Amino acid sequence: MTVHDPAEREIHGWARRPRRTARVSRGSAAGLMQASANQSAPCLPRGAGMSYGDASLGAHVLELAGDPVFELSPDHATARVGAGMDMWTLCEKTLAHGRFPAVLPGTRFATVGGCVAADVHAKNHRTVGSFGGQVEALEIWTADGARRTCTLTDDAELFRATIGGMGWTGLIDAVKLRLVETPGPWWSEGVTVGRNLDALLQLLDEAPAANHVVAWVDPRAKGPAIGRGFVKSGVPAEADSRHRAWPSAQVGFEPPVALLRPALVGALAEAIFARARWLERKGPRRVHYSRFFWPFDQLRGWNRLYGPEGFVSLQFVVPTEAASVLAWAIERAQSQDGGAYSGILKRFGAGSEGLLSFPMPGFSLALDLPSRPGVESLARAIHEEVARVGGRVYLAKDALLDRDCFGVMYPAAAEFREIKRRVDPNIRFSGDLAERLGLFEAR
Ligand SMILES: Cc1cc2nc3c(=O)[nH]c(=O)nc-3n(C[C@H](O)[C@H](O)[C@H](O)COP(=O)(O)OP(=O)(O)OC[C@H]3O[C@@H](n4cnc5c(N)ncnc54)[C@H](O)[C@@H]3O)c2cc1C
Repeated sequence: MTVHDPAEREIHGWARRPRRTARVSRGSAAGLMQASANQSAPCLPRGAGMSYGDASLGAHVLELAGDPVFELSPDHATARVGAGMDMWTLCEKTLAHGRFPAVLPGTRFATVGGCVAADVHAKNHRTVGSFGGQVEALEIWTADGARRTCTLTDDAELFRATIGGMGWTGLIDAVKLRLVETPGPWWSEGVTVGRNLDALLQLLDEAPAANHVVAWVDPRAKGPAIGRGFVKSGVPAEADSRHRAWPSAQVGFEPPVALLRPALVGALAEAIFARARWLERKGPRRVHYSRFFWPFDQLRGWNRLYGPEGFVSLQFVVPTEAASVLAWAIERAQSQDGGAYSGILKRFGAGSEGLLSFPMPGFSLALDLPSRPGVESLARAIHEEVARVGGRVYLAKDALLDRDCFGVMYPAAAEFREIKRRVDPNIRFSGDLAERLGLFEAR
């Protein structure tokens, strides 16, 4: 496939900040490697740009285009999938054979390549682990122009550096992915309200192992109610012939100012909490999997509601024994002008093989904050505290982490750098995030 190489254009991640002008090449993996050969500036693979901060930004980004490969193994237990395939397509293709990906992020638009590179986690992390744990083999183009296949036992260094390696080891072309059996597209979803953070943490801990669980946290609640919210929990349900996707709406315009204002956010939080109480009373209900996994995708373009300045997402994980940092961070965010607009809490299990993978045992909290003066210093305070207690920040959401905190949070970065020196000595693959973190600067 020929490479479409248009003029430079502005790109950004899901949080719509930061933004930059970039050269965007689209085409097959082989074509992209050719188009980016012998250039002085580094290039960076880019999927659907669903990471929030600057993870998918760079001077020259490479986007896979064309019909991604999908080859199911004879026993349907694995599939070889093109890295450019999005989660929705992957689910539909596997469901047709009674199978499903074991790990799905909260947006259907993320690509397979992006999910490997960020080693994404799902609502079942505590029992199943992250996306990389489902990968049997990776096919990747490396800086020397070679197309290599790596696994946990063959070229294992490259494999472990690429899972969670944010595109810095090369361009992932295809992935051999394990699949799980499923009765169909329907899920049984239940809601349980928690009156404060302790109650939510307990609900997350006590959920049956088979359940996919996530908690919504009311970012406005204070005092004894701090961290109140609800846990949404789901398991696959029996097959149903009414296989249809949930209709989605779209924010199809660019508001000149942020439409999400503190008063509106407060009213929305009240409405969400009241609805959760009602759903709890009603008991479990059957929902289409797209609605269970991707509720935010029902309002496409919701990131535009934050206005032209975009927003800041702070997602971090802290070890279980440091769970008090969660309430502290919510309180700190409340002291910020505008406060946090949403909070999502998850239980994580064991970490993965990926050297720069985010998940580790503990609790993860994601807070979305409007871009207001002071948000950088709030982020710095939270980052320092998270680093102090042995936690870490999710690079796929981040836009503000500094080099020192990164070094503390990701001690395996030293090993990653060593591998990078071997597979990409001239830094062919890099981008804005690596530059901000000083990842490949001589040390
Ligand atoms: C609404 C929403 C909900 C989300 N929920 C979750 C969640 O539940 N769990 C979670 O973990 N994440 C979640 N995310 C984040 C998202 O899943 C990850 O950022 C994912 O990496 C995005 O995939 P992408 O294809 O858009 O990649 P991009 O955002 O384009 O890129 C992300 C990284 O992957 C690299 N990359 C992309 N394609 C390739 C390739 N072919 N080869 C090598 N490197 C590549 C890029 O260089 C970059 O470093 C969510 C995002 C949104 C917007």
